[in-house]
Amino acid sequence: MNRNSSFKSNKPILYLIPTPIGNLEDVSTRTLNVLKEVDYVFAEDTRVAGKLLNLLGIKKHIVSCHEHNEKIASKEAIKLLKEGYKVAYMSDAGMPCISDPGSILVKDCLLSDINISSISGPNAALNALIASGLDTEHFYFHGFLDAKESVRKEELRNLYKRKETLIFYEAPHRIDKTLKSLFDILGSRRACIARELTKIHEEYIRGNLEEFLSLDKESLKGEMVIVVEGNSEEISKMPEEKDIVNLIRNFENMGMSTKDAIKKASELLNLPKNKIYSLYHRN
Ligand code: SAM
Repeated sequence: MNRNSSFKSNKPILYLIPTPIGNLEDVSTRTLNVLKEVDYVFAEDTRVAGKLLNLLGIKKHIVSCHEHNEKIASKEAIKLLKEGYKVAYMSDAGMPCISDPGSILVKDCLLSDINISSISGPNAALNALIASGLDTEHFYFHGFLDAKESVRKEELRNLYKRKETLIFYEAPHRIDKTLKSLFDILGSRRACIARELTKIHEEYIRGNLEEFLSLDKESLKGEMVIVVEGNSEEISKMPEEKDIVNLIRNFENMGMSTKDAIKKASELLNLPKNKIYSLYHRN
């Protein structure tokens, strides 16, 4: 057990600093004060951190700590903390450790008996979730899906039965492929694309995954979070895509035309014919 109070302890503290995800006004007074107070800022990208500190009128020693050198940088941070220096860590945007570096630093600091204090602030996943209109009671944060289609689809198959609202991060150059995989595997669930959060072009697109397939990709620029409805009772009652296709093939094998097989499957499963038609022709 490790029980540490952040403010009533003489132990060194590593501060985890959230940074704006687009809007400089999201820097809180507390973030500002901690940044002024510390001696060293460890950062995912020293240029990005330098720019932010410059805008805030703060001058500090900035040390690089990114996914490829985090283990070595952690040692340096721990040494400084043990020598009595105050240290903060920031990633490029949002909360450190959330699809960003920082976790190794936190774990190593804890192993070296250093306290951790997280400063509250912007996080794209939570900003998107609370405005999505979907269930916020229980949610599952997945972050980025794999770039490779087969791996991405396998990840989604593993998520299919989760009842919690699902949250994904995505980059604009992969959004169309990801939206297609989401629809192919999860079906037409309600969803929300939260784009350019906190920025001038902030936009929420609320609808369902099937509708999202017809979105003009040119209009999906910038940074995005995709929030998707979890598996509801209604959805779980739906047979899986492969079972529907098998059912149609069975009817065909019995001598029915594809058109009749689709009609029959639609009657049997009480699902719209056009839905079964598009699903069948996708496979
Ligand atoms: N650590 C960050 C956080 O706390 O949100 C996330 C960093 S991750 C490398 C970057 C991803 O976060 C982007 O690809 C996008 O999915 C999401 N993101 C970051 N800023 C965003 C914004 N302003 N609007 C929408 N999504 C954003």
